[in-house]
Amino acid sequence: MAWHQDYIAWKIADNIPGPRLINFVIFLDSVNEFNGSISLSPEQMRGLVERHSMYSPKGGVGTAVIFHPEIVHGAAANLSPYPRRVVIATYDEIHNKAAGSAPPRIPREPRHSAPDRPGAYMTMKTSRAVVLKDFRRPPALGTFDVPEPMTGGLTVTCRYGGICGTDLHLIAGHLDIPTPLVLGHEGLGTVDALGEGTERDINGDPIEVGDAVMWASSIACDRCHACQKLREPTLCENRRTYGVNRLSSAGSPLSGSWADVIALEPGTTVVKLPAGIDPIAAMSFACAGPTMIHALGERRPVRLGEIVAVQGSGPVGLAAAALAQLAGAEVIIVGGPPARLAAAKAAGIGDHHVEVVESGDVSGAIDVVLACTRGQGVDLVIECTGVPEAVDQGTRMARRGGSYLIVGQYTDSGNAWFNPHQIVYRQLDMVGSWAFTGTHLQEYIRMLPALTRRFDLPSLVTCWPLTQVGEALHQVGAGTVIKAVLAA
Ligand SMILES: [Zn+2]
Ligand SMILES: [Zn+2]
Repeated sequence: MAWHQDYIAWKIADNIPGPRLINFVIFLDSVNEFNGSISLSPEQMRGLVERHSMYSPKGGVGTAVIFHPEIVHGAAANLSPYPRRVVIATYDEIHNKAAGSAPPRIPREPRHSAPDRPGAYMTMKTSRAVVLKDFRRPPALGTFDVPEPMTGGLTVTCRYGGICGTDLHLIAGHLDIPTPLVLGHEGLGTVDALGEGTERDINGDPIEVGDAVMWASSIACDRCHACQKLREPTLCENRRTYGVNRLSSAGSPLSGSWADVIALEPGTTVVKLPAGIDPIAAMSFACAGPTMIHALGERRPVRLGEIVAVQGSGPVGLAAAALAQLAGAEVIIVGGPPARLAAAKAAGIGDHHVEVVESGDVSGAIDVVLACTRGQGVDLVIECTGVPEAVDQGTRMARRGGSYLIVGQYTDSGNAWFNPHQIVYRQLDMVGSWAFTGTHLQEYIRMLPALTRRFDLPSLVTCWPLTQVGEALHQVGAGTVIKAVLAA
């Protein structure tokens, strides 16, 4: 994992059965040793650990923000000056676990504060959430009541909410979405409360309060032409997407993952996380993974022994490359800047890495790709840049009779010049792929053990606390991180 401390903590958590994993363990004022394998006293951590203001570690449970660039082992990509949010478990829990007592559970706040005297009223739990009010203005934190879960739905305590390139487009007003809106369409959390009739996840496994889950961002209507006739729910004309097109005034405003709690409606695909899955690893390709599983699983599968070029080295590009590698392909990543390619390489993603962003040397990059294939061109090019100009370059990397799979142009960034003769001359199959469904998320989670065995996915992730959403968005916009995740 990216942070050595995380790894240590996780090794402890490995022994905790089921999904009630402690995502992270750190020790503060009252604890000065840890697991026997690494010992960090409060003195050593002083200046490196900053408590989250709304929690008291003295109470034993809460969150903290850690800055510890000095305590990092492993690849250079692991070095990060950015904070990562952690969940604090009490020392007692760890200690008891080590002593062989009953497995600890993630401590949970009571759903309602209990009346402390006769006649006192129950107080509704509230949740912070990042709200987009006006386009081109920074989204801000608001507070909302946590509703009772709907029948067939559930409420989930968001542990992590991913930031996607799409979110920048949403904030910039590039998509026609209603505001105000709680943002965040990628998430992972623990079940807070189950609505009536909500008993199982999409795999048929029982879900209980405290279970770690992910959920699909979209719900198809099941009624429209695409859903019924074409059986293509990604093309649903009435698709509702958490964090994208839910109105704050309709239902619960808590419909995005950049929040302490999200209210999931009936029809949401919920997948329980298998034991032993690192949530940070799961978040690395939370959106990109299912998107590429749709694209590579159905739209244009990778075939045995193929050579694949991936244009783009953001999460979608790296997910494309990793999945193509798992499928047995030799993968050339054409992207940049160099630090990003180095991080991909360090994570084991991509067999060849061709820098094109900083150098701007497009024809040179095409030459390198062609050289990898003795001038023939690759069997499959996967476009994951979102830059219209990339399409012309991509057609020139493909071999005659090859395929061009376009995934990255999710938002309309305008027209681009390309030479249609290349499509005919090379007899290319041009294939588009749009978004993903709940079953693609289910498949992604099923593949996570294989993905994490082969690739260092957590090294791609940088976490910020919810309160630093502005900084996180800035870094995403600047391209200085690969995958940004907010931790509530
Ligand atoms: Zn996304
Ligand atoms: Zn539909």
